[in-house]
Amino acid sequence: MSNTRQFFTRREAVSVLGCAAASLPLWPIPDAVAAPLRYKLDPKKIADGVWVLFGANEPITMKNGGAIANISILDTRDGVIVIDTGPSLRFGTALKSIVEQLTGKPIARVLITHFHPDHVFGNQAFEPKLIAAPQGVVDGLKRSGEEFATAMYQLAGDWMRGTELILPNKIIDTDHEDIGERRLRYLTLGGHTDTDLAIFDERSGILFCGDLVFLDRAPTTPHADLGIWRKSLKRLENIKSTRMVGGHGPAESGTRGITQTVDWLNTIEQTIGDACERGLTMTEAFQEPLPAWTAKIALARYEFERSVMHLYPKLEASKLPRVDQSNSP
Ligand SMILES: [Zn+2]
Repeated sequence: MSNTRQFFTRREAVSVLGCAAASLPLWPIPDAVAAPLRYKLDPKKIADGVWVLFGANEPITMKNGGAIANISILDTRDGVIVIDTGPSLRFGTALKSIVEQLTGKPIARVLITHFHPDHVFGNQAFEPKLIAAPQGVVDGLKRSGEEFATAMYQLAGDWMRGTELILPNKIIDTDHEDIGERRLRYLTLGGHTDTDLAIFDERSGILFCGDLVFLDRAPTTPHADLGIWRKSLKRLENIKSTRMVGGHGPAESGTRGITQTVDWLNTIEQTIGDACERGLTMTEAFQEPLPAWTAKIALARYEFERSVMHLYPKLEASKLPRVDQSNSP
């Protein structure tokens, strides 16, 4: 942690996590959200013993409490598997209660796909020894978890009350795990962040892709490596699945989520690269036209602008050598 700053500035918090409430004052929390808050969880059954809580196709706001990511529940004879835990202690507690209502069984395993806060801050509701993730996810949380917590309190307000970062206690270092009648194949990939876990449930044939796949909702890129991300999507495309559950958006059969995510990554890389090449400022780059197909993608302009903020400084640094490191007179 020695080189890591402990706190985000407000601008960084908004840049990394995104926020439709960016123009609102952060403190004090408005009276409207001071009343007791309750997530309305609505599990959708997508296969025998498999449910998904679909996240809102929105940025993190004080209205949705950060419940924007898809959370999956898989029943087995030996207990229940949960994939990702949501944005807060309050969400995790509601999730645990839904699992009990649906199955009447204890939790056997909690899997964390990557270190982004909308997927991981419900951990506190579960026993740490049951929570598993690849080492890279745990390292990322150690590095940035406190900063994410600060930013989430700022963006989601009272929904976060009492929420603390709980690290997964079990490291995933094998390529599969058997729980009850289900064999889960673990694919430790990357690109959306430095470590992204995808999970293939052999019994249902469902591929849980985490945020490697976005469908009908623009992908987020604050920690992305676009080249690695595309390679990971190739790997996922080669798996014969009955259905894909991405981190955001609907669950479908076929590979539309993969194709659309690749198209988006190519589009932003090309558009932002061109804008930088032409010497546009970041504010000018925000206005660049996007292809017509993106009109149907939720948050396309919003995420494009955020991607400009994430990717522009890197592009400028690679194209414009620092004056004090240049050989020119
Ligand atoms: Zn993410």
